[in-house]
Amino acid sequence: MEGVLVTGTARAGLEGECARCLEPITDDVEVTFQELYVYPEHQTPHDEDDDVSRLQDDLVDLEPQLRDAVVLALPFQPLCEEDCPGLCTECGARLADDPDHTHEAPIDPRWAGLTALKNDDE
Ligand SMILES: [Zn+2]
Ligand SMILES: [Zn+2]
Repeated sequence: MEGVLVTGTARAGLEGECARCLEPITDDVEVTFQELYVYPEHQTPHDEDDDVSRLQDDLVDLEPQLRDAVVLALPFQPLCEEDCPGLCTECGARLADDPDHTHEAPIDPRWAGLTALKNDDE
């Protein structure tokens, strides 16, 4: 009586990057949504409210509902793999590609001056 109830399913392709190692990832998401589009002439108690979707010249604008449904379905922190080890904190290498790589122990900044002397000798 008040408008048109729209129910639908949408599929979208996702592209992004792993939250830990920045590797590009793609995925698909499927969402369902339902929205009442109120006739333009129908008055509602919250008339000034923008949350009310309205028909515009007998057409429905699906974009806002579609966007909201898809955004809610997105993973908060997308990962390339469930147990992605991320990046090396020293050099930024991707640990999944190079799990065994190591670095020499960082030089204590208080002794850094001595390293310069040693290199001079060489
Ligand atoms: Zn990753
Ligand atoms: Zn490293």
